[in-house]
Amino acid sequence: MLSSSENIEKLISELESLPGVGRKSAGRLAYFIANAPKEKIDSLISAIKNVGENTKKCKVCFTISDGDICNICLNDKRNKKVIMVVENERDLLAYENTGEYNGVYHVLGGALSPLTGVGPNELKIKELMARLKDDVEEVILATNSSVEGETTATYLAKLIKPLNIKVTRIASGVPVGGDIENIDEVTLLRALNGRLIL
Ligand code: ZN
Repeated sequence: MLSSSENIEKLISELESLPGVGRKSAGRLAYFIANAPKEKIDSLISAIKNVGENTKKCKVCFTISDGDICNICLNDKRNKKVIMVVENERDLLAYENTGEYNGVYHVLGGALSPLTGVGPNELKIKELMARLKDDVEEVILATNSSVEGETTATYLAKLIKPLNIKVTRIASGVPVGGDIENIDEVTLLRALNGRLIL
């Protein structure tokens, strides 16, 4: 069914193509935008353009950054000796939102998945191993509890343990198959604090 306007319909279908946005929310957003003052629309457009044009991957941890190195890696107050390995930037954000984690991160860019052709070379594993040449005390494997996430954690633990670096895995509390980004902060903290030494 088409909306009252082709322009609105076009915006709805753009918004609907975004992750987590269904047709109903897309419609709500589109009509909000249609009724919004010009300044609101301009600042929304420029925020989107800025992210699209003025961000890149951090050269150290591979999360999204404005410069070559992200604000987390540049922050002197963060403990560089503890590296939390996550699948993607959204998981990093979930842990940042707890406000309790003071180490740094490494974003793999996915998880091992032989079925869909994601092997170690498709992830930032080489880059992680290179970071471990510095003074690192602990690597926390915070990949998801899906089959792919568990496979990735097992693979990394095997690689890292011979280097005599403590390797830990976030504890259960993260439901099996549950995406880290969708888990509440209390559960995430419990999983982090109850992590197990591998
Ligand atoms: Zn970084």
